[in-house]
Amino acid sequence: MKEQILRKLFLGFIQIHILYHAKKEPIYGTWMIKELAEHGYKVSPGMLYPLLNRMEKEKLLVKTEKNVDGKIIKFYQSTELGEEVLKAAVEKAAALFHEVKEEGEQLDPI
Ligand SMILES: [Zn+2]
Repeated sequence: MKEQILRKLFLGFIQIHILYHAKKEPIYGTWMIKELAEHGYKVSPGMLYPLLNRMEKEKLLVKTEKNVDGKIIKFYQSTELGEEVLKAAVEKAAALFHEVKEEGEQLDPI
């Protein structure tokens, strides 16, 4: 139950991560899985690839296929819409975290 609720919440954070990195440079699935794991998100290929696909359909990302040593790798880069969505999400997240953090500080016994 708790796991499922957190997964739903984290899906938004994961999308922000993806948009952030895809803005800096083209990303690909296995790299993104490693990057997310470093931040404590356990994301399987079965979860990430459909998400990347969906974000591409939503025109947040654009896909290019490259042949790397005989293997076709799909790279994703942020679109202008993706950058706009990232900016809006970060502003909202910053305001939210600011409030939640203050609230937490007030609750701390000093
Ligand atoms: Zn990251």
